[in-house]
Amino acid sequence: MKKSCILFFSLFSLTALAQKNDVVTTQVSSKADALQSQIIAWRRDFHEHPELGNHEVRTSAIIAKHLQSLGIQVQTGIATTGVVGILKGDKPGPVVALRADMDGLPVIERTPVPFASKVKTIYNGQEVGVMHACGHDSHMAILMAVAQILSTMKSELHGTVKFIFQPAEEGVEPGQKGGAEEMVKEGVLQNPKVDVIFGLHINSQTEVGKITYRPGGTMAGVNDMQIIVKGRSAHGAYPWSSVDPIVVSAEIINNLQTIVSRNINVTENPAVVTIGAIKGGNRSNIIPESVEMLGTLRSFTAADEKLLAERVKQIATKTAEAQGATAEVKIPYSNHYPVTFNDPELTQKMLPSLQHTAGAQNVLLRPPVTGAEDFSFYQEKVPGLFFFLGGMPKGGNPLTAPSHHTPDFYIDESGFTLGVKALCNLTLDYMASAQQ
Ligand SMILES: [Zn+2]
Ligand SMILES: [Zn+2]
Repeated sequence: MKKSCILFFSLFSLTALAQKNDVVTTQVSSKADALQSQIIAWRRDFHEHPELGNHEVRTSAIIAKHLQSLGIQVQTGIATTGVVGILKGDKPGPVVALRADMDGLPVIERTPVPFASKVKTIYNGQEVGVMHACGHDSHMAILMAVAQILSTMKSELHGTVKFIFQPAEEGVEPGQKGGAEEMVKEGVLQNPKVDVIFGLHINSQTEVGKITYRPGGTMAGVNDMQIIVKGRSAHGAYPWSSVDPIVVSAEIINNLQTIVSRNINVTENPAVVTIGAIKGGNRSNIIPESVEMLGTLRSFTAADEKLLAERVKQIATKTAEAQGATAEVKIPYSNHYPVTFNDPELTQKMLPSLQHTAGAQNVLLRPPVTGAEDFSFYQEKVPGLFFFLGGMPKGGNPLTAPSHHTPDFYIDESGFTLGVKALCNLTLDYMASAQQ
């Protein structure tokens, strides 16, 4: 009898909570749907006027003006062009950060859309086209709509929302600093202190209406590397008087491939070791003195990241030593991204929110992605959840849909409102869970 009473009351409170959530979810849904044409207009404007990392001057001005018009407290000029909006709810509660990135890429657009970019600029000393070829235009438009919707719900908001519009996710020119790492250094997760962060990435090879996610290691942690092999130069006709750095480099390249096949537990997490550049010598009959190799290391746990770096150093230096040469290894050489790691507890807690928003059948577990994301710098400091939003037209083929960073990259705009609803509901549901 007692047991059934408890069951009755807990069922009653769960149902009441679900009904309450349903009211809010419906409100969010209709507000997002009403904003659809505005979201598309914002996105098209950003698309037509893309700016490279750390140069998002026009872009950030539009965002700052929009946030100010909503009565949101705005900070500008963070990590060059970053914009942060703070929306303080009327009720106490946690601080939820939501992040969008703002930069385009040095790609010449080839899509037939009427708002295609014709922008040209100088990058790395060369004239290049500029294109939102990763979909960051849609991330900004989505987050601007989220800010608009949540600002109308200020009186019911149990906590504070921090809107982070971040420059230079795609990296910067050599020698510059930027992106999430700099935003974190400049204190974007402080004052007020962020409790949790959510972010999304549109995906050109996932169908509109779908959300994909993964708990734990979601996108790879990346270290780039430089290996310099030094030997002794000689005439190509008399190799016995050389220490040939080209032959040593060939051995190193092959030996490095045993790290993934023999040192990484491939049943747990994948890893990648790639040498992408090899430079040495300039003639057929001269054995050069040295060879430079550049490469990338990708893994999904901090432990694997450490293991990859240690094994590359051992293999390169010892292989060289065995041949009388030397190898100097720099890891990272010029850039490092941590693993984009979705806090497993947070992911489990927020999964019902995504399922409720998109329909459970549309929220799919995805394999890990060996690309990287600088959202990981926020997740190093606070628990975070980063998920993917479908942007491929319904019925499209993920194998042939143009991938990100290519001139034909294309996004179906009908998927944007789902992103808006998902970020609104994650925020509201997280705040509601903190009240219990
Ligand atoms: Zn990208
Ligand atoms: Zn991107």
